[in-house]
Amino acid sequence: MAGADALAQLRDTASACTRCPLAAGRTQVVFGVGDPSADLLFVGEGPGREEDLAGEPFVGRSGKLLDRLMVEEVGLTRAECYIANVVKCRPPNNRDPAPAEIEACRPYLEEQVQLIEPVVIVTLGNFATKLLLETTRGIRELRGQVFDRGGAHLVPTYHPAYVLRAGGEAMAEMRADLVRAKRLLARQR
Ligand code: URA
Repeated sequence: MAGADALAQLRDTASACTRCPLAAGRTQVVFGVGDPSADLLFVGEGPGREEDLAGEPFVGRSGKLLDRLMVEEVGLTRAECYIANVVKCRPPNNRDPAPAEIEACRPYLEEQVQLIEPVVIVTLGNFATKLLLETTRGIRELRGQVFDRGGAHLVPTYHPAYVLRAGGEAMAEMRADLVRAKRLLARQR
């Protein structure tokens, strides 16, 4: 339970964060949701309008798809995983998070990873993948592979918003990536 307490404390600290300009435009900090000792951690990009209002990651259309694929391909609900984002506050007009905003927010994500100690990290899209793998290579090149990230298996996949737009093959590839995550989880048990 020590991890859960520390995570709750980190959430409190983050809720008053003013480390970057995104603080000025947010309704609330969207810290993360799920099981503090989850084996599977999803990392997205940043809250959109609905997440900013709800205070929870991935509650909009992308989130509905993520919820569905996580149940269908991994067999887990969002309460059994943990879901976090690269930046915890909504970038205005759904723009990309700026490099300085990502760097300012990074310590929160790093601490979340340390406290949750996931077996598998699934990065959703370019921002989470590039940050956690410290690479400039893009998601199209990296998905389909598994990387070591400080002892956790990192499985890069597409952002669900991209899959909603692209459909077909991207959806099949994302499903395959989640099956890869499920196999890695099963190996650990
Ligand atoms: N997109 C993200 O990357 N994160 C969210 O929480 C919602 C949409």
